[in-house]
Order: sequence, then C-alpha cells, then structure tokens
Amino acid sequence: MLTIDIHTHIIPENVPAYAQKFGYGGFIQLEHHKPCCARMMIGDKFFREIQDNCWSAETRMKECDNHRVNVQVLSTIPVMFSYWAQPKHCLEVSQFLNDHIADIVQRYPQRFIGLGTVPLQDPQLAIEELHRCMQIGLRGVQIGSHVNDWNLNAPELFPFFEEAAKLNAAIFVHPWEMMGQQDMQRYWLPWLVGMPAETSRAICSMIFGGVFERLPNIKVAFAHGGGSFPSTIGRIEHGYNCRPDLVAIDNPHNPRKYLDNIYFDSLVHDKLMLQYLLNFTKPNRIALGSDYPFPLGEDIPGSLIKSMWLEDDVKQQLLNGTALEWLGMDRSFFTV
Ligand SMILES: [Zn+2]
Repeated sequence: MLTIDIHTHIIPENVPAYAQKFGYGGFIQLEHHKPCCARMMIGDKFFREIQDNCWSAETRMKECDNHRVNVQVLSTIPVMFSYWAQPKHCLEVSQFLNDHIADIVQRYPQRFIGLGTVPLQDPQLAIEELHRCMQIGLRGVQIGSHVNDWNLNAPELFPFFEEAAKLNAAIFVHPWEMMGQQDMQRYWLPWLVGMPAETSRAICSMIFGGVFERLPNIKVAFAHGGGSFPSTIGRIEHGYNCRPDLVAIDNPHNPRKYLDNIYFDSLVHDKLMLQYLLNFTKPNRIALGSDYPFPLGEDIPGSLIKSMWLEDDVKQQLLNGTALEWLGMDRSFFTV
C-alpha cells in the first residue's frame, strides 16, 4: 500500500557559516566529527547529534525501503526557522534550505515531496518566498507554532495565510521554541510537555483568531497528532461557552466547528490515542507522520497504524489518502 510520511526532517550536509557571514550568533552549524555523523552546534553550544540519514537522500531511501515507506515529505529541522534573525538573513537561510529540498525532490520525484521554510517575521518576504517555493516544485511550507511575539492569529500573519490558501499550499505547523523551556530544562520536558502545549497554542490561536473561519479552504496540518489539543477539546469548548468574553472575542463560533478544517499527523505513540483521534476527527484528516529520523519519532514509520485493526480503506486513507489530499497531489503520480 502506498505509504507517505508527511512529517520528516532534513538538513543539508554542509551549512554555510551564517554567524560569521552575518556577524551575529544563533545559527546552526554542522561539525562532521566522524563518518556519517555530525554535531549540530549553535555557536559553541551542542544542540543535537545527527546521522547521515538526516542529510543523505540515498541513506533515507534505503531506510525507507526497510520501513516500507514509499515517499517522505521533507521539511527542515525547526531549529533552522531563524525567525529571530534579521528578515533578509532569514530569507537567505530559507532559500538555501528550500533549494536543497527542491533539488532532492527533482532528483527523486517518486520518493520525496518538499515543504519549504519562510521568513515569517517579515510576512511580505514570506509571501514572496512561498511563491518561489511553489515555483521550484515544493508543495507548501512548514511553519513554527508561533513567530517571536506573534501567535498564529496575529493580523500581521493573515496575508500570508491568505496567500497560502490562494496557492493551495500545504502548511505544516511544527512546535518550536517551546513555552516555559527555560523553567523546565530537566527530564526533556520542553519536548515532552512544551511541544504538545505549543501545538495546542497554535491550533487555538488560529481557531479563536478566525483564520479558519475566514479561510475555509486553507490546508493546515499540525504535528504530533495536534499535541494536547484533541485531548483537551472539552476544556477548550467549555472555556468558549463559559467565558465568551475572554474566548469568543475575535470569532463567535464554537471551536469544534473547525475540526473538519484541520489535518493532524498520526504521531501519538499510543493505539488508544490514535483510536481517539480517529473518533475525534475523521480518517481523511489524519496522515501518517513519523518525525523521522529523530528518536522521539516513530521508529518504524507507519507501524502504529499498521498494527491497529482498521478497515483497509481507513488504513489507506491514513497511509496515503489524507496526505495526497492535503498536498494537492494525485495517487496516479506514484507508480507504487
Ligand atoms: Zn518534527
């Protein structure tokens, strides 16, 4: 069965020394300290160790063959968003990353689909780069769960969403710069607690800010099964009902109205939770996502979906149908 993984990350094998070039820090560099391995460094600070499956299309294809994944949707690693940088510098970084992904997609169109990244701190530049992304063969962009001081309801960001809807661009929202990170360094809490909260923050901001109300055709998918949003929908709805003076100030509609507008990846690591997500929304709003190649992702992408008792048509929907619809692609493009 055609299997498309909508949530995978990639980075070029060599990243220019942007900190040196632009004259200030914060940009990621790769230190290739041994074969097939590299350290991601922010200045002198170690961020994460990665392997060549993080940059090599060929290694990825081999692993995909082992995992029976046919197609990966490629997006950058969120630490590369660089929204904090000067817009023109973020644009340069974004273009470098986007050209890298576009090149891989062009070389292996049956195996990879690309999402770009854009300098969202400058929405006009972001719109221009979004257009360029679509022209060079990417299907949309990945964005962060917030942009510096803006949540995703910020009026400044609306023209960008409007343009994405017009272009039929897929948007993948990924948590990053997790809230409370400084206060919970131990136990990997930014990843375990902060990330699911970030994703709910993004969904609630878009719903209550009226983005889905005003752009009913926009195609937005949220990482990690929507984070804590699906499991706290009762609380969110109750808040909307009991304190409309706080919640319903920009959009007068019940948040559940928008469940049909929202896509989720399947990365929940728990059968009961995936079953809940299937009841919460519909199979045609859930797509396989694994967070490949990172350890908090699904070791064998698709194994949770494949391990569940689901009708074949539901499995097909989760493994490829929803992804194709979200990406605006036709199954016949893939010869699998
Ligand atoms: Zn991810």
